[in-house]
Amino acid sequence: MVIILYIICAIPLNAQITADSIPNKESAKKDKKYQAKAPQTKPFGSAAFEKSDKTILRWLGMGGFFINSRGTTMMIDPLLKGFDMPVMIEYPITTEDVPSLDAVLVTHADNDHYSVPTTKDLSGVTKAYHSTIYVDSLMINNGLPSHGHNIGDSFKVGTTTIKMIPVDHAWQNAYPGTSDRQFKDEDSCGFWIETPDGTIWATGDSRLMPEHLEMPTPDAILFDFSDSEWHFTFEGAVKLANTYPNTILLLNHWGSVDAPDFPPFNADPKMLYEVVDNPERIIVLAPGEPFKLKRLKKP
Ligand SMILES: [Zn+2]
Repeated sequence: MVIILYIICAIPLNAQITADSIPNKESAKKDKKYQAKAPQTKPFGSAAFEKSDKTILRWLGMGGFFINSRGTTMMIDPLLKGFDMPVMIEYPITTEDVPSLDAVLVTHADNDHYSVPTTKDLSGVTKAYHSTIYVDSLMINNGLPSHGHNIGDSFKVGTTTIKMIPVDHAWQNAYPGTSDRQFKDEDSCGFWIETPDGTIWATGDSRLMPEHLEMPTPDAILFDFSDSEWHFTFEGAVKLANTYPNTILLLNHWGSVDAPDFPPFNADPKMLYEVVDNPERIIVLAPGEPFKLKRLKKP
């Protein structure tokens, strides 16, 4: 069971156990491993939601991002409260301080991406939620104004156009007993976000797929480089990064959860600099720190 929990990302909503549920406190006390931690959080407030002539991204910690593209505001996989493992960052904003959102986008049902407490709290200020058909069904059951999309479909949010990108993350099927449900690949997704200032690829959690190496070149990738077999794996993440050798890499899914023995959460950015081409494009943001999106120069 411990092995199972080490290689999955996190736990689906109907199985609220985690790696921390496994009683192994004695060994944990003796030799707790080093774990890279995100830089000190830079909190933000309502000013970050105002209209500007730019597209600004902010990492929310975990796998989450806030994007304000010329006044169109959205959060991807926001987790700002109520996680069931120990979190070692300060969240950069509370749900109560979010003034408004045009959309919340959710890549999949694991509770580090679809945070029920966070999305419920945001429902009073969020115009629409978007995800896969399956996650849409969960969100509708939770009373959220949600829309479900098929992989390959596109939809608009304000000034942005968003396409549903395939992923391979149906890990539940590999472990009988994890869920009564047979999961499908299309239950999870990534998002390809065209903004007036460039293209952002939110990969979601996924094993590396051939399609991922044949995309148009994005200007920025929300980059998960954790060494987990149900994610890209470290080697796969580097391969993906070097397939788009000039694309900005905004690191996430690391440094947020106190879980030194849980690969999906404990990657270290230092590992990347030797193996990624053009390493100056590796961006280690603090949670809440603004990053301005720019189009890559055409060669
Ligand atoms: Zn995850």
